Amino acid sequence: MIDASALHARLEDIRSRIERAAGRAKRDPASIRLVAVSKTFPAECVAALAAAGHRDFGENKVQEALQKMDATSTLPLRWHLVGHLQSNKAKKAARFDAVHSVDSPALVARLEEAAAAARRQIDLLVQVDLAGEATKFGAREQELADIFAAARGCRAVRAAGLMLLPPAFDDPEGSRPFFRELRGVRDRLLARGVDASMLGELSMGMSHDFEVAIEEGATLVRVGTALFGHRGRASSAPTDEL
Ligand SMILES: *Cc1c(COP(=O)(O)O)cnc(C)c1O
Repeated sequence: MIDASALHARLEDIRSRIERAAGRAKRDPASIRLVAVSKTFPAECVAALAAAGHRDFGENKVQEALQKMDATSTLPLRWHLVGHLQSNKAKKAARFDAVHSVDSPALVARLEEAAAAARRQIDLLVQVDLAGEATKFGAREQELADIFAAARGCRAVRAAGLMLLPPAFDDPEGSRPFFRELRGVRDRLLARGVDASMLGELSMGMSHDFEVAIEEGATLVRVGTALFGHRGRASSAPTDEL
């Protein structure tokens, strides 16, 4: 049995923390979207949050996500793929509303093809691997211009901004320089003439550091544990592959 009232209470708590963080940063809380990362949790948990009016859900594995989409297909939800996507699996990813892990021009092309064939519109966030970071996925800053150039000619997919998965720190303040740096990357792309309409979103911040991310300009925060509780399996680590 799912404890729906406990889930609702945690959702309310996260929402009010988002509002307070927005207030500190003098930002409109409506400019920040909460993506509830439901990976490893059953569709019943998704439905319980949907009943409380929540719409945006994140998953890191395509197959697991497709099953939850099927189980909740009558609900008006928006699905975000936050985990790494191999180009050869782009076709299956066409059911997502947003893909946060785009890291090559080839993947942009594959997603455009898949979204057009499925007659769907997908928002793309380009995952950035900041220099010195030990993560495996994401594009380096010098690769970003080509990725945005590839997106410029697309019609079924639309580049919407940047995504960051920084190294893990116990202290949320440890993430702050990375969040700030992602904003810096965004500003340099704008200065180089990348259209502002492709850079409106900054997807950054997770359970332990989303308030810091909001202070640094996040427009999409991806929160799992703080909403759903701890995930049992080691395979659910944020850097997980498909
Ligand atoms: C799992 C995951 C999250 C959520 O992490 P929590 O610490 O549980 O909030 C956010 N982003 C990505 C990319 C993830 O894989």
